[in-house]
Amino acid sequence: MKKVLLGLSEEELTKEILQIGEKAFRAKQISGWLKKGIGFSGMKNLPASLIEKLKENFSDGFAEIDIKRVSTDGTIKYLFKLEDGCFIESVLMHYEYGNTICISTQVGCAMACAFCSSGEGGLIRNLMPHEMLAQVLQVNADNGGGRSVTNIVLMGTGEPLANYENVMAFLHMVNDPESIGVGMRNISLSTCGIVPQIARLAEEKLQITLCLSLHAATDEKRKKIMPISARFTVEETVSAMKSYSQKTGRRIIIEYILIKGFNMGKDDADELAKLFSGVKAHINLIPYNDGGKGLFSSPSQNEVYAFMKLLTDRKISSSVRRSLGRDIEGACGQLRSKRSRELTEEK
Ligand code: SAH
Repeated sequence: MKKVLLGLSEEELTKEILQIGEKAFRAKQISGWLKKGIGFSGMKNLPASLIEKLKENFSDGFAEIDIKRVSTDGTIKYLFKLEDGCFIESVLMHYEYGNTICISTQVGCAMACAFCSSGEGGLIRNLMPHEMLAQVLQVNADNGGGRSVTNIVLMGTGEPLANYENVMAFLHMVNDPESIGVGMRNISLSTCGIVPQIARLAEEKLQITLCLSLHAATDEKRKKIMPISARFTVEETVSAMKSYSQKTGRRIIIEYILIKGFNMGKDDADELAKLFSGVKAHINLIPYNDGGKGLFSSPSQNEVYAFMKLLTDRKISSSVRRSLGRDIEGACGQLRSKRSRELTEEK
């Protein structure tokens, strides 16, 4: 594989450019384009011969946009094809406060949560730091450039804490003011709860928001939908989250998929209250999105608000996550798994 230029420091990039016999100022020009999410072919101030030379010697690190779908609500979903032919998804969502991109951190996922399409084919591989950066920069470029993307959530396919080093390297790259410079406070990382890695993250003192995909408040129930709960109990997972919050001063965010007839009863609200009463925590309620699989049932809007009221009655702060991009296979991994199926059928 050719050396990738995206994600290199100014110094490393200059070294590479000098090594192919070009002048140092070319490195500055190239890095200016890379930051803008523009690959070799679009580097307009470089002579064609240099572009050819760059292509021969390096990869710019960007992926191919295989599919782009725009939802009626403005949400945009991208399916990227990576250099080795793997597919990953990113989603751009518009909110009042800015534009949030949801990026993937792995190709596939090993966590095998029952409700999630991302884990269907298991884990294929970790994403490299530049492959996460490319999602942000390319989507940013495709939406006008500058600082079109204001917030990042690591909530797409993959378990970010199972790709720890690469995710850390990416966070520093994307936070770099010389690059797109997204502030750590504008970045959220969502995990299914790999306890030792949560403890490690707390020591980084990064100011990112940490979100825990809890989805069930007791071990017995959580084990039915999330294999990770065989390794870590709810109690130790929540306790790791509390200590993250203490060390960083950040509020705990809990994600809780609402599955009809499974985790929306009074007893569930009571268990959640036991875990979070008096804690600086907020619960994000996410109506289960079935994506046509018919595995679990989605709640009606009334049922969703009834559960939210149970939490409010118990003085637990919560909100319902707006469902965006339903018409474009917005939920985790749905577009990727559909595309992979299509390709297998084509063969
Ligand atoms: N591995 C990480 C990040 C990826 S999953 C984690 O577990 O948090 C991120 C979120 O996607 C999960 O919390 C879940 O809320 C959401 N999700 C996955 N499948 C879903 C589905 N079918 N319906 C609704 N939300 C889903």
